[in-house]
Amino acid sequence: MEQTLQLQNLSKFYTATHGVVVGLKNVNLTMSVGEFVAVTGESGSGKSTLANVVSGILPYENGEMFFDGRPTSHYDGADWERYRRDNIAYVSQNYGILTGSTVFCNVESALILSGFSKEGAKIEAEKILKEVELFDMRNRRAAKLSSGQKQRLSIARALAKPAKILIADEPTGNLDSKNSEQIIKLLSLAAKEKLVILITHDFAEAESRVSRHIALRDGNVVLDEEVEHDGANDDLNTEPTEVRKDEESQKSDKKSDDSVAARNARKKNVAGLSAYVARLTLKSKPIWSIVMVLLSALTAFAVFAFLGTFIISTDDTTARVYDDSAFRNGDKTRIVVMRDDASDMTEDDYKTISSLKYVENLERYGYICDVSYNYNVGDDMLLKLSLVGTYEMDDGVKSLIWSNVEKVEFLRDDLYLKTLPIRAKGGSIITAGREPQNMREVVVVGDASMIGEYLPLYIRDTKKWTGKSYIFLKVQVVGVTDYGDGLYVSDQLARMINHACVKDSLNYIYGISTLSDIGDQVVCDAQNFAMKKDWELPNINTGGYCYLKTYDPSREGAEGTGIHDSTAPRYIEVSEEMFDTLTLKGRGNQVSVFVKDYSYVDRVLSKLHSLGYKAVSPYKLGALEFDEELYIARIQSLVICGVAFLVTVFLQILLVRVLFGLQKNDYRLMANIGLTCKTAKCSVAWLIALFVLLGQLICIGIVGICVGANASIIVNIVKFISPAIGVVLSAVHILAMIPALLWTTRKLGKDVFEFSEKKVDLDLEEGENND
Ligand code: ADP
Ligand code: MG
Repeated sequence: MEQTLQLQNLSKFYTATHGVVVGLKNVNLTMSVGEFVAVTGESGSGKSTLANVVSGILPYENGEMFFDGRPTSHYDGADWERYRRDNIAYVSQNYGILTGSTVFCNVESALILSGFSKEGAKIEAEKILKEVELFDMRNRRAAKLSSGQKQRLSIARALAKPAKILIADEPTGNLDSKNSEQIIKLLSLAAKEKLVILITHDFAEAESRVSRHIALRDGNVVLDEEVEHDGANDDLNTEPTEVRKDEESQKSDKKSDDSVAARNARKKNVAGLSAYVARLTLKSKPIWSIVMVLLSALTAFAVFAFLGTFIISTDDTTARVYDDSAFRNGDKTRIVVMRDDASDMTEDDYKTISSLKYVENLERYGYICDVSYNYNVGDDMLLKLSLVGTYEMDDGVKSLIWSNVEKVEFLRDDLYLKTLPIRAKGGSIITAGREPQNMREVVVVGDASMIGEYLPLYIRDTKKWTGKSYIFLKVQVVGVTDYGDGLYVSDQLARMINHACVKDSLNYIYGISTLSDIGDQVVCDAQNFAMKKDWELPNINTGGYCYLKTYDPSREGAEGTGIHDSTAPRYIEVSEEMFDTLTLKGRGNQVSVFVKDYSYVDRVLSKLHSLGYKAVSPYKLGALEFDEELYIARIQSLVICGVAFLVTVFLQILLVRVLFGLQKNDYRLMANIGLTCKTAKCSVAWLIALFVLLGQLICIGIVGICVGANASIIVNIVKFISPAIGVVLSAVHILAMIPALLWTTRKLGKDVFEFSEKKVDLDLEEGENND
């Protein structure tokens, strides 16, 4: 007979705190496939030690163990892992089944981990379940089985493994005599093609079936004898299950391609096997899986919220005070654009720019955006009349006499001139009436009843014109709109105002701050102008200045139209065409673009730059001095978010590790039936990847709901975060999971797969707890 296992002078010692303890001493044994060996002895005699040494769970110190005639004393950890995986099936007192999985899954998984194909495993599992009489309960969860059924399932798993040696360490310890008998019977069945080693303290219950009896005392073999049967008990071959088994096995031999070579090849398929293990884990622990997904969703959301706020806080512009010396109108959503070569913008440019993503509208007369206006007497401006004298009435009551308007006080300083804007989406913004056609017509925000009304329009550029100067126009409402606020002036008026700032491109786009710069343009010399046909911007002439404006045919007799300036109360009038030629044409043009939200400004800026335009955000440009309070608040939010992010990541790593720790037992059980360390680690990676993916999807859902519910913090982050940054955040979440993955797999490898006595300690403890 072939010698499967040979122990030669084998000794096993334990180092305990109080000295060395003998587990086995100079044991000599030879055992072969086909034998059913009962190992008995008192508690502490070394039975479990023998079982653990033979099954490759514990190392031995002295002597030699031969397997299939080959020595094993030189084996390293990986060798033992392979030895256990390929040759040992283990049945313990505490069942060793996957309690969360179904009966069928328990057996199927053992087969698949041994390299069976899916179809082969199904056929084989059904066959084995019939053998152990659990076929009718194949869809029941293992946790719901009785003790006897659990032990039968445990044996079914051991039978499923094509290992030469089956070791059962006190499998009947928890069972009544009827169930025990059934278990012993099943083990004796297995002994037909395996070496079965049964550890028991009750030799009587096994005596009728075992072929050999070995007794231990204090680590020594004190008895080793063959057990003779009279045949009366040998009823196995007449069992109906046995007949069925033979039929089934013949059938399956024909059907499945599960040859040893094919199985060995499949065992190496780490990716496929680990995906299977991951699925098994997911299915058998649904609550655990849900907790993992929710944890991942939570951390994804935390990463999004904390890191998102962090990213927003890195823009320190909002912590600064706006300095309006370059651009008076520091509207956060405004971007000033001009062509790179400072040449005139064309209709195509307008179209390109206004159709960019996030661009709300475009004001083609860019400069007027820095010029204020007021038009509602009392509401947004005050007219100050100067007191001329008093008038005494007949009854002695004194009345005051006022002059004409002398001073305008602007109450609102957030109204800046604009024409009907160019918008990418939607045509006209006018809801009733028509567009303004000359400089004394406007469209106002309001209802149709306002059409026809006259309004006093005061325009002033406090920075560039002398202190009290303003332009006054009595304008008529010709159309109304519900878009924006205030009013929209005609192109003609806009051009007239606009000409005031056109100089060379650089100064232009970066703003003009001193009065003398403006003086070049706003004011020109009447004499020079009259003489020079090919007029260029003249030098400032100390002789009197006058304003250049378009000829206004309706001016004659038109009341209240004019330009007031205490230092230069004169102007010359030219045709519109001439006006444009002199002021705007060929001198570059600046447009103002308004984006939907400040958070999009950077993205629109970079898009404009990539299209070859010069573009700046006046708000960002003017944000110079830090506001101390805002600055501190910003730093605080940076620190809080940074710390919160790190804490989240750390907690996540910790929780993942703890939650996977709960699966340790299942992994250990699967390791006993052939799961390799590599496959186990790979399955953890699959699971973590799945949890991250699902977590992120849920997170996107939560963010969507928050945006729908208008949660301002989340809406703000969403606006700021471009798709690219979104990808980065998602990558950060994935990266944050990598330490968790590494830590978990390392711990798993150590606890489940490492060849150490510590692990056996744990096993012993568990076994004792179960007693
Ligand atoms: P049995 O299974 O027959 O009850 P064991 O094989 O578990 O006996 O134990 C044999 C001897 O080895 C006992 O004296 C026991 O105390 C000792 N022993 C077992 N495991 C360890 C261990 N991990 N550390 C120290 N001593 C141990
Ligand atoms: Mg024991």
